Amino acid sequence: MFSAMIDQEEIICLADGYKTEDLKRLRKRHLFYCPVCRCELDLKVGAVKLPHFAHKQGAACPVQHEPESSYHLKGKRLLYEWLGRQGFHPVLEPYLQEIRQRPDLLLEYGTRQVAVEFQCANLDAAAYRKRTDGFLKLGIEPLWILGGNRVRRLTRSFFQLSGFHWQFAQKRDKPPKLLFFCPEQKAFIILEHLIPFQTNKTSASLRFLPLAEAGWHDLTAWENCSPLQLKGWKENIRSFRMSTVRFLSKEAKQMAALFYEKFRLPLPFFPSEVFLPVPSGYIFAHPVYVWQGHLFLFITKHDTFRLQSAVHYMDWLVKGKRLKLRWSGQQTAADAVCEYICFLHKKGFLERKEEFYYSAGPVAPEPRLEALLKRDEHYFSE
Ligand SMILES: [Zn+2]
Repeated sequence: MFSAMIDQEEIICLADGYKTEDLKRLRKRHLFYCPVCRCELDLKVGAVKLPHFAHKQGAACPVQHEPESSYHLKGKRLLYEWLGRQGFHPVLEPYLQEIRQRPDLLLEYGTRQVAVEFQCANLDAAAYRKRTDGFLKLGIEPLWILGGNRVRRLTRSFFQLSGFHWQFAQKRDKPPKLLFFCPEQKAFIILEHLIPFQTNKTSASLRFLPLAEAGWHDLTAWENCSPLQLKGWKENIRSFRMSTVRFLSKEAKQMAALFYEKFRLPLPFFPSEVFLPVPSGYIFAHPVYVWQGHLFLFITKHDTFRLQSAVHYMDWLVKGKRLKLRWSGQQTAADAVCEYICFLHKKGFLERKEEFYYSAGPVAPEPRLEALLKRDEHYFSE
């Protein structure tokens, strides 16, 4: 951390620009204490990490975390300076006694208070929940920015996102996005329009935003889904159809068995209609073809149906634990189902008369690869 009490009185903040020699001199003459637990701190002035304070070994501080990495210190400081340059008056590492938390930065934004957490280390779901709830209890909005070294890029528009990443996805936004900051590259990396294809493989539009050009507003602003993302999605489906070796989850195997039983189709020949990139698809913790496979089978079983019955059907599968949602405490699959049905309606697969939907033609899945790829083209092009 950068701030400490000097001689039990004032707060000294190392992010305010001290020279190394000054700090070495200070260290000889003064003692430093943690503003939270009042334990004595070491002032570390070395060649690798930025100068910072650290608890002595064995200190029991309520907000003591693991030793801060150089990456974290550097990022925190850059963000602090960046906010200052935009006319904010951020407070570095303030201790919020009521909730016993110490966010990296706290700033006022109009009538709102925002706690910025630059998260580089692992954080389990329970700790994340506790910290988020703490801020919300005080009416503070948390803004989680992940370490840029946690971006795992697979292709131009596909990323490997783990449970760690997903817990930070900004759920108030739709579709959700993730904010990263890299102090090495001095840039924000924003992953938007997250659409999972399967576990650990998620499509996204990446926005690289150098710190020097970025404003606070850019972090919350909306960008349209990039055309690259749809193109990448199509390429991905193509290579999925061409490859044979793959690891399948239990639910994916079950879906493969259902399709084989009904249509005599193996997984690579699944119809284009179960690979639709819809914005709310992320609510399901399954490959896209699993949850859409259920909907597709639902459609083929009914001559006509109401949107509401498709929603009920999916909610029923969730309730019976045949489909899992990504986050507990979620309500209904309604948004994802509506988007799915609308997509099929727009592309001419479904027709609609009053509140009833029905298939535009016979639902006969296509067993020839060439025709399938052509159909993908129809679905996954602007
Ligand atoms: Zn302490």
